[in-house]
Amino acid sequence: MDFKKAIENSMDSLVQDIAALCRINSVEGEEKPGMPFGEGVAQTLEAALKMGADMGFRTENFDGYVGHIEMGEGEELVGILGHVDVVPAGDGWNTDPWGGVITEDKIIGRGVLDNKGPIVTCLHAMKILKDLNVPLNRRVRVILGTNEETDWRCMNYYLNEVKPEMPTMAFSPDSEFPVTYAEMGLLQYTLTRDITEKIEIEGGSAFNSVPSSVKAVLDKSLEEAVKKAIEESAEKDAYLVETAEEGLVVRAMGVGAHAARLYDGKNAISLLMDLLAKLPLTGELKEVVDFYNEHFGMCLYGEKMGVDCSDEDCGPLTLNVGKVYTENGKLIFCCDSRIPVSFTIESIEEKVQAKVAGTGYTYEQASTERPLYVPRDSELVKTLMEAYSKVTGDYESQPRSSGGATYSRAMKNCVAFGCLLTDQEDVMHQANEYLEIDKLKIWLEVMLETIYQLAK
Ligand SMILES: [Zn+2]
Repeated sequence: MDFKKAIENSMDSLVQDIAALCRINSVEGEEKPGMPFGEGVAQTLEAALKMGADMGFRTENFDGYVGHIEMGEGEELVGILGHVDVVPAGDGWNTDPWGGVITEDKIIGRGVLDNKGPIVTCLHAMKILKDLNVPLNRRVRVILGTNEETDWRCMNYYLNEVKPEMPTMAFSPDSEFPVTYAEMGLLQYTLTRDITEKIEIEGGSAFNSVPSSVKAVLDKSLEEAVKKAIEESAEKDAYLVETAEEGLVVRAMGVGAHAARLYDGKNAISLLMDLLAKLPLTGELKEVVDFYNEHFGMCLYGEKMGVDCSDEDCGPLTLNVGKVYTENGKLIFCCDSRIPVSFTIESIEEKVQAKVAGTGYTYEQASTERPLYVPRDSELVKTLMEAYSKVTGDYESQPRSSGGATYSRAMKNCVAFGCLLTDQEDVMHQANEYLEIDKLKIWLEVMLETIYQLAK
């Protein structure tokens, strides 16, 4: 099929439609009747559904949680999974983040990349197929979620209450090209112990972030020992000491990162515990420091916890301690593991429990996400790769695995596919989110070829 002319003719309205959708602020807001995630999200869902209806597609709104836009006939269903909600604008914008600004060569606004631009691109690709009367054997359905950026309650409602027909195969254009065919399992847990002595250690903000800073308050008598330990440390600049009324405040500064890429960061808790190990500590504080260094230390891959493992698809398991704090006589470590797809979450959980048994720490699961895995030689992955390579000429990039969790996990036989191109700047969730129009044209070409190949 040669779609060149149709693509050329669609570009103007595609740009206008993306900008229009980005002019509605769809950050999650206060729940209202029929609007589980607030007015802006509900309006955006309605606007997207109207866009689909105006193109001549069937649409349906499931109580404001999820919307469908469907084309074609056939037994089987190809799913395209996206979302209409966005993260807050944040500071640092040079234009109105809700302006849907169109310049000569780009569209600027919150959501142009994540995820309104990709959704609207898929709709326009479907419209081209429809207008050209291209014969297709499978139906194509865009499935629009409404709170992907927060806690995926939209998908829970959809899967558990609506219980929809499931696509035979699906992709989620909410990541990058080419295909992400494996996403590691996720296990988050706390390790908690009782403390009766006064211990002050506090740092990190979330399970899934490498903490960039942590502080401990020590007895002032340790001042000389602390200074000496810092002097001898290979990471001298990572520490700050000051004497305050409450005691000797020691801070460790690391480098923040997402836990899925913890090797890009430096864990401040590990740096602090490494320093504290060199001090003449006693009592419960010494026990805490020893426990940390025996079970985590500076390891990134769970070696000391005895959970290190890896496979060909995903590489090694990662283990991040994202947060430590004390509360009501307890000290709590918050841990995040990304688990290669060949290993079960349960097997890792059992190992952690066995390892900490008898140490005085209690294991408690905080959350899990099943892994995603669609074989590289499956029809889905092969078709997506072929469509991508044919359009872009990029035959070098390979299907990838990731520690991150995309929306594609919500469904079986679904992978993340696009839309960030390999040479496109990733400004998702950042100020001045923009989409170049020449990149957008490539998106449309890839999506058109992809939807055609999957549905024909
Ligand atoms: Zn997204």
